[in-house]
Amino acid sequence: MHDDLLRDVDFWQFLLGIDREFAQNARKNGCSCGGRLHAGNYLRKPRGGPDGLPEECCLRLSFCCCEEGCRKRLTPPSVRFLGPKVYLLSVIFLAAAMRQGPSPRTMRELCTLFGADRRTIARWQLLWQEHFPQTRFWKVERARLPHPNEATLLPRALMVAFFISPDAPRDDWVRLLCFLAPITVADGLAVAIGR
Ligand SMILES: [Zn+2]
Repeated sequence: MHDDLLRDVDFWQFLLGIDREFAQNARKNGCSCGGRLHAGNYLRKPRGGPDGLPEECCLRLSFCCCEEGCRKRLTPPSVRFLGPKVYLLSVIFLAAAMRQGPSPRTMRELCTLFGADRRTIARWQLLWQEHFPQTRFWKVERARLPHPNEATLLPRALMVAFFISPDAPRDDWVRLLCFLAPITVADGLAVAIGR
């Protein structure tokens, strides 16, 4: 059910709208040097989404500072792209989460479902299980989880916390992806130093 939506072009249009809001906010704030930002979007070739995704849905919204001598690139958070990763954030999350729980999907099923190979899916599991819990983001934001369940492993714990509306999977996805958006920027997955 939650994977159906990832093959729905309308859903990706909707997520693009959220990314546009993030981008507008970033533009309003401008560059840290005080300079104005101009659009510097770039085209990605995301994997794991539906066939025939319109080109605008493959755009990573981004800016460059206009100021001579700065020209810094500023890439706002996204609900679609996880840093430079080729696969879409929601796919990287869902495939790893579906390996867990009372009835985990087999690697073979997930390879077919998302078009990724076993090694890639295994890397995603490591990302969520080993790396993500060490990040500054998680150490702080875990306290904001709507329905925390410490006993459930990541990333499934996030699925349990956010996928609560069987009749409205889009709302669940949007809440989860907005929660995760801060990890999609440069250093978003930085590890917390010390305890
Ligand atoms: Zn600047």
